[in-house]
Amino acid sequence: MRPNQRVQSLSLSTTLALDARAKEFVAAGRDVVNMTVGEPDFDAPAAVQEGAIAAVKSGKVRYTAAEGSASLRKAIAAHVSATRKVEFAPQEITVCHSAKHALSGACSALIEPGDEVLLLLPAWVSYSEIVRWAGGVPVSVPSRPDCGPDLDAVARAITPRTRGILINSPCNPSGYVMTQAEVRALGALAEKHDLWIVSDEIYRRLLYEGEPDLSPVSVSPALRARTVVVDGASKAFAMTGYRIGFVAAPREIAAAVGKLHSQLTGSPNYISQCAFERALTSEPPEVARMCTEFDARRRRIVAGLEALGLKTPWPRGAFYAFPRVTPWLDERGSGGFCEDLLEEQNLAVVPGSAFGVDEHVRFSYATSMAQIEKALQRLAAFLASRPAVKSARG
Ligand code: PLP
Repeated sequence: MRPNQRVQSLSLSTTLALDARAKEFVAAGRDVVNMTVGEPDFDAPAAVQEGAIAAVKSGKVRYTAAEGSASLRKAIAAHVSATRKVEFAPQEITVCHSAKHALSGACSALIEPGDEVLLLLPAWVSYSEIVRWAGGVPVSVPSRPDCGPDLDAVARAITPRTRGILINSPCNPSGYVMTQAEVRALGALAEKHDLWIVSDEIYRRLLYEGEPDLSPVSVSPALRARTVVVDGASKAFAMTGYRIGFVAAPREIAAAVGKLHSQLTGSPNYISQCAFERALTSEPPEVARMCTEFDARRRRIVAGLEALGLKTPWPRGAFYAFPRVTPWLDERGSGGFCEDLLEEQNLAVVPGSAFGVDEHVRFSYATSMAQIEKALQRLAAFLASRPAVKSARG
């Protein structure tokens, strides 16, 4: 028996595969610094934990509607309305099993077979596979050296078959946060060419400095009408294991995602719905403390990487640093660089090739400052043992 061609043609998530490899090394007794996975190393806030425990003890752990419980949809609608400064009704919210599930639901609800969907590089590992699984054709658009969107390249990539753009700000893997002008310019392109936008805003609370972020839904009613917001609990509330997320979209699209999930997955986990509702309604103080700690780590890791000669686009948000390692790459590219780094120095990071940009590697700094210091020492030893080569890639 063999899986079908559609599944065979999908690639495994590189980050999860590398995380698993690093964990195998640890199980074999090696002292690995694992900076692969994008998972806060903090516990979920106390209110979230209490919400989950109260749910378990409530005697109400049952199915909810496939779109999520009425009270959570209401809480999410209030939250999205307040943070994006534009009114959302509960009927425009569909609760999903995670942001990943929300992305696959949104793409499945929007994409017709053969539709082209623009992905701005560097793009999170799962986007291209989610688009392909939904029947679309992912089209990668190169970005500027600072990882910001190259608006001319986006305009050039649009063809009569283009139907949508998937954006992610703050960005995994670069930490780049789009300026408000960039969001407006992408929105104008979407309107001009009649495209939808899926805006993955999972990192929007992890924004450390500068101009506030801008969701396309906040730009104008016309743009709101062609945008699906994807968000969730994993990153902002350190709730990765709870698995809970949502789409906020025009009623018809939110309902379509709910219909799909009613057949494919059923209602989201009741306990996690209750825990997420607590997170949204109590604004736990732990979140601000977590952000302060991430900010300190961000400054330390970027300074450390730059001191080693690795040019690193300045990350305003998320919890990743994405230095350029071009001078140290051989013909195996960033994949080979990461393999050697793990093999020789027990330091696990993700190759940029997984995000469509082979010149970089990604460090997740969702790990302790002590681990970051260790990582920088190991990286220094690695680079010293591997003289920079003059690469044709510049
Ligand atoms: N979107 C981006 C850009 C991410 O980095 C991740 C997780 O790594 C997700 C979505 C998925 O989040 P969730 O844990 O809610 O599935």
